[in-house]
Amino acid sequence: MSRNHPDSNEDDKVETCIFCLIASERDKEAEIMKKDKELVCFKDINPAAPHHYLVVPRQHMHSCSSLNSGHISLGQLKWIMKRMAEMGKTVLRDQGVTNMKDIRLGFHQPPYISVNHLHLHVLAPTNKISEYLMYKFMPKTVAFITEESLTMHLKNKAPPVKY
Ligand code: 5GP
Ligand code: ZN
Repeated sequence: MSRNHPDSNEDDKVETCIFCLIASERDKEAEIMKKDKELVCFKDINPAAPHHYLVVPRQHMHSCSSLNSGHISLGQLKWIMKRMAEMGKTVLRDQGVTNMKDIRLGFHQPPYISVNHLHLHVLAPTNKISEYLMYKFMPKTVAFITEESLTMHLKNKAPPVKY
């Protein structure tokens, strides 16, 4: 995207984006759990549960609402979301989590995000989410959408009409 693009403010943030720094492995503080060509999973600096990881795409995209910005297609977003969830679950299993029903995967929705780089929260076990942060990760609230609900929402969303 060029500097003259109407959304170039978003582009400007890439240089200072902390998750871009982590995803490009230039931030030496982050505890990376797993990575591949497109995604990186690392420990949340302020864990809300015994297991709290974040999965981010290496490429900067703003949030789960990036679809509306026109920077990513519906197909790409569905694909990346699926891969992010898979990586999060793999990390949980690698860390010894066996009850995969007692996990929470989801996204904060703008404006309830503190880092403007798409990130999936991966938490387990759900009954050990800190009381103090419980509401922040509560499904069906205005701030938090589970990965399952978002996937369902995207599934029902028709691809944009091409003229
Ligand atoms: P949000 O509220 O935007 O959904 O969540 C952002 C998450 O990123 C928070 O849970 C916060 O603790 C985590 N976070 C913010 N800055 C850093 C950082 O520099 N390193 C790591 N590992 N996590 C971070
Ligand atoms: Zn970024």
